Amino acid sequence: MLNRIDLRAGGVAALAERDLRTLLPRAALDVSTAVEQIRPIVTAVRDHGAAAVREATARLDGVELTELRVPASAISDAVAALDPQLRAALVESIGRARLAHAAQLPAAATTTVAPGATVTQTWRPVTRVGLYAPGGANTLPSSVVMNVVPALVAGVSSIALASPPQRGTGLPDQTILAACGLLEVDEVYAVGGAQAVAMFAYGIPGECPPVDVVTGPGSVYTNAAKRLVRGVVGVDAEAGPSEVAILADETADPAHVAADLISQAEHGELSASVLITPAESLAGQVDQELARRVPASKHQQRITAALTGQQSGVVLVDDLADGLRVADAYAAEHLEIQTRDARQLADRVRHAGAIFVGPHAPVSLGDYCAGSNHVLPTDGCARHAGGLSVQTFLRAVQVVEYDQPALREVAAQVVRFAEAEDLPAHGQAISARFES
Ligand code: NAD
Repeated sequence: MLNRIDLRAGGVAALAERDLRTLLPRAALDVSTAVEQIRPIVTAVRDHGAAAVREATARLDGVELTELRVPASAISDAVAALDPQLRAALVESIGRARLAHAAQLPAAATTTVAPGATVTQTWRPVTRVGLYAPGGANTLPSSVVMNVVPALVAGVSSIALASPPQRGTGLPDQTILAACGLLEVDEVYAVGGAQAVAMFAYGIPGECPPVDVVTGPGSVYTNAAKRLVRGVVGVDAEAGPSEVAILADETADPAHVAADLISQAEHGELSASVLITPAESLAGQVDQELARRVPASKHQQRITAALTGQQSGVVLVDDLADGLRVADAYAAEHLEIQTRDARQLADRVRHAGAIFVGPHAPVSLGDYCAGSNHVLPTDGCARHAGGLSVQTFLRAVQVVEYDQPALREVAAQVVRFAEAEDLPAHGQAISARFES
């Protein structure tokens, strides 16, 4: 079922990392392609506000919006109607995420660089954020938890959330609204995709004030919009169609590997499921498991499309060291390690959004209840970006304090430096303090 890329017989060692990347499976529709498709939506929302949001929503979501903002009663009704077991699952997810994210809060750090001279690195929360929870192909209340919890822990005072309206109700998915209610987020918009990101970035007069940072996972269109508005607002990493790479040896259970590959493919036709292994026998057994399990899955059609698409496949390597090189070149959103000594291998990984170690930490645990964040960089972005965290919602602000002797001590050096840059007024701002 899975495409095969055979990099054995020294294939990995012979390639520079840049060339290795080009051989690895990737989807044809990526964020850079989608940018041109959504540019008119972002421009229209910037220039025409609510009218453009309504037009895009009618065309793409099939919903004629009256109000962009969800009434408070719809949120409280959704909480009241929540199935008790689902409520318990949400509460568990929120509790574990709160625990793990509270530990991410960085402490202020004061350095005495000389007597009487200190620099303190402090962390200040962003003032207003716009969070996105997918609601097109997938409706993901779990993404409400993953966005809101780190923002709350960081101390953000103004939190808005958007998710596409559903046909019929014209509101975001009921469980998404219920998750907002449980987390006491009351500013919720029934707006999806690029139009939601543009609404947050530019604001809608009288309806939605602009935000400082936009975060959240979504389709290529949503992430393309994040790329377009970067700079107008802060954005988190591009967190597009889900990916799993599984680095496995012959000790892995093929049924577990197949189930995990399927679970990522279930997100949609662009999702990527990649197995990296030196064990050809495992690859064969996984294929057999897929053939058995896929026809029994609820979303068989999209799973099959994802697994057989050019973004998925098996990469055969000579050994686990080469497997690690492939995993680093691929820079997966999720990297599972199902090998002997999985922990040691995990310590050697350089590029991954999140690493799931050993047989009992499947990605779907991380999607909901591990405590970790599931908003993670895709399409190789894990080479330069991490997943959503408390720090996404914080800014480092340095506080500089020098007393007079400390300034005197370094004055000549500052003056000399300023002369070298032909900025004498910089030096004079120091010397003026010692003229009398
Ligand atoms: P979504 O809500 O971002 O996208 C739906 C919106 O896209 C629609 O409301 C519509 O406005 C817009 N849209 C649809 N077709 C369009 C088109 N042709 N042109 C312009 N806009 C269009 O996301 P979704 O569809 O629910 O899918 C969720 C995605 O999020 C999945 O791919 C899933 O794998 C991914 N995901 C990623 C992460 C991560 O952290 N990387 C986490 C969870 C989910």
